[in-house]
Amino acid sequence: MAKYENLIPRFLKYVKINTRSNPNSGTIPSTPQLTEFAEGLVKDLKEIGLDNVHINKQCAYVYATLPANTDKQVKKIGFISHFDTADFNSENINPQFVENYDGKSVIKLDDSGKYTLDPAVFPNLKNYQGHTLITTDGSTLLGADDKSGVAEIMAAAEYLLAHPEIKHGEIEIGLGPDEEIGSGADHFDVKDFGADIAYTVDGGPLGQLEYETFNAADAQVEITGTNVHPAEAKGVMVNASQVAMDFHAALPEHDRPEHTEGREGFFHLYSMNGTVDSAHLSYIIRDHDRQIFEDRKKLFQGVADQLNKEYGSDRVQVTIKDQYYNMREVIEKDMTVVDLAKEALEELNIKPLIFPVRGGTDGSKISYLGLPTPNLFAGGENMHGRFEYVSEQTMEQATDVVIKIAELAEQQA
Ligand SMILES: [Zn+2]
Repeated sequence: MAKYENLIPRFLKYVKINTRSNPNSGTIPSTPQLTEFAEGLVKDLKEIGLDNVHINKQCAYVYATLPANTDKQVKKIGFISHFDTADFNSENINPQFVENYDGKSVIKLDDSGKYTLDPAVFPNLKNYQGHTLITTDGSTLLGADDKSGVAEIMAAAEYLLAHPEIKHGEIEIGLGPDEEIGSGADHFDVKDFGADIAYTVDGGPLGQLEYETFNAADAQVEITGTNVHPAEAKGVMVNASQVAMDFHAALPEHDRPEHTEGREGFFHLYSMNGTVDSAHLSYIIRDHDRQIFEDRKKLFQGVADQLNKEYGSDRVQVTIKDQYYNMREVIEKDMTVVDLAKEALEELNIKPLIFPVRGGTDGSKISYLGLPTPNLFAGGENMHGRFEYVSEQTMEQATDVVIKIAELAEQQA
């Protein structure tokens, strides 16, 4: 029998429910299905036997508490995951199983073989020799991001309840919606949650431990032209589309996603449209270094200022909004939360994989709300699309890590 009896069954039950979040919704959470899913989680968490199970007053996160079973003063540890899925078909998810994968075969996802998992394309498959893989049928995403995290946290809590000989402090669980549309963590209530340190269990492959993210801003550029008949345009026409191209050309040409890696930041033009009369450019600005991030925003505004000076009027309007910041700034002040996870991985003979994330996590926001929250692996690969898969064994190991962190924190208190 599997060590965590309900881990995979619960995961399968959850992925079959469509919880794709909606970026164009103004509601919290972004769809009625997410509310329904949250209510289902409340029921399941109560059934496991957890205390204080409730949906927070922002109507977003489901919280639950596993009471301490020790007299020691142990830091309260939170484990956080999200149950919405990315912007990809999530209707009728039909998980497929590959038992005892040989680490080299091409896996057919759909019957026709149009979509496959090929180690030549996805080399990480080679790491899964002997594993049971759960894949899609090629028509949807899987939703391991991040229902694997949800199922792992719940399995860990269930295991700890069944094994009182493992001593631990109070454990807080937080399962939330709308991570994929970037708004979920805005409705995280740190005070209600009650943890001293926390982890999102939302990373990828075995061993991932992330505590460094981008600093992130969204930047919109609105350009106003002067549209006259091309025949009589000399000295009069200002072509907004031309100004837009000039704007883009004035940004550092190598600071783009396709030319950068590691800790190199960028300006990413993700949408553009324009006529002679008006044009609009949409960017994201990213950098791990806070000072360089601030400089990037200044440079961006500076390009607009320079163009406005040349035209003698405010034709280029820039609106920059910060989205989230590098959690490292917060976490560095007290590395306990990272050290604890590292030790847990090492005790379980899992090699810690620590790299700066070229993105953000819910923890980027939650850390700035005062709760240091690095990100632990949950096991998923190829997230956000039809090639997503996860290994049952890796999910078990992620569950082991959650338990080990709770255990170590008690031993060290
Ligand atoms: Zn995720």
